[in-house]
Amino acid sequence: MNIKNIDKTYVANTYARFPLTLVRGSGSLVYDDSEREYIDLGTGIAVNAFGVCDKEWTAAVEAQLSKIQHTSNLYYSEPCALLAEQLCIRTGMKKVFFSNSGAEANECAIKAAREYGERTKGSGYSTIVTLRNSFHGRTLTTLAATGQDVFHERFTPLTPGFVYADANDIDDVKRLVAQNKCCAVMFEVVQGEGGVIALERDFIDGLAELARSEDLLLIADEVQIGNGRSGMLYGYMNYGIKPDIFTTAKGIGGGLPIGVTVLGERVADIFEPGMNGSTFGGNPVCCAGALNILSRIDEALLCEVREKSRYIRETLSRSKGIKSVSGLGLMLGVECFRPADEVIAECRENGVLVIKAKQKVRLLPALNIPWEQLEKAIKILVEVAEK
Ligand SMILES: *Cc1c(COP(=O)(O)O)cnc(C)c1O
Repeated sequence: MNIKNIDKTYVANTYARFPLTLVRGSGSLVYDDSEREYIDLGTGIAVNAFGVCDKEWTAAVEAQLSKIQHTSNLYYSEPCALLAEQLCIRTGMKKVFFSNSGAEANECAIKAAREYGERTKGSGYSTIVTLRNSFHGRTLTTLAATGQDVFHERFTPLTPGFVYADANDIDDVKRLVAQNKCCAVMFEVVQGEGGVIALERDFIDGLAELARSEDLLLIADEVQIGNGRSGMLYGYMNYGIKPDIFTTAKGIGGGLPIGVTVLGERVADIFEPGMNGSTFGGNPVCCAGALNILSRIDEALLCEVREKSRYIRETLSRSKGIKSVSGLGLMLGVECFRPADEVIAECRENGVLVIKAKQKVRLLPALNIPWEQLEKAIKILVEVAEK
């Protein structure tokens, strides 16, 4: 049996995979099992921040791998401590909890918010307002936080304690806050799985103001947009707000699993020993890789991300095959006149990998994709969209 058939036979049927087996890569080029080359504009869903087998990241990971691969959280470990320090220095936040995925990072944020509500506002102040069309993960609690009914069907009862407001409608948020005992508002500044839609600045300002006046925590889910992808280190920085908690995962690991919950002043000391934990959380190999990734997201790289974003937007907006481009930085949603599935399949046949978000073609290239490869891939996307 070939790999596709073995996978179909033995791997749980939760994924609709593209008909492609990837075996290796270098930077923004990946190769399938017949040595066909593709330019990768998906980076494993915004995970391979510096592409495949990036030399510096690989060296950092391998160096740690041959020292000690895991310690458990019963002991101190240098990469974990240094990564937490760097995250706080770079963001002005105060403390970090490490886990293994975006969903887990959000679970921790939800725990922190519930504890905050209980402590500062009183018993029962545990409700969190999230937005319609959001995506916060696949565990039963982060599914409940996700404001999309399609994800909820079949898995009820979900964790209670979430109410949903329309994105960009501050009055709807105010109404929910007035009607429920709330402790926090949680949002993605760019809704990724929801169709790559950036929230409006006025709405975010309104959320920040409401959070101040109603003593609510602002929780930014930076799992996809974070770590340089927006053109700033974290997406919320584009809006000039300071969340009380932000969560991230995907790109910070550079390809290894890591979840990060970053706590600001108001919740820095919310946890005591025993209140949260993770066996693999803060794994030294993942943290050593993440330290390398974070250290390279500097002003020069961010400038390049913004420049490449401008280039993509300008090129695509001139195409008669493309209706609109949404998003921020190198997280873009492309609405084509042709169905997204057709465009994605034909891009693949022409050597370019892109993915989907709702009915859009989603672009998540490596932050350091070489200009030449980016230009070639965008040219192919335009040709396919105009067919
Ligand atoms: C991917 C994603 C998650 C879930 O991350 P996992 O690592 O798959 O658990 C949560 N929030 C956002 C915004 C995401 O894009």
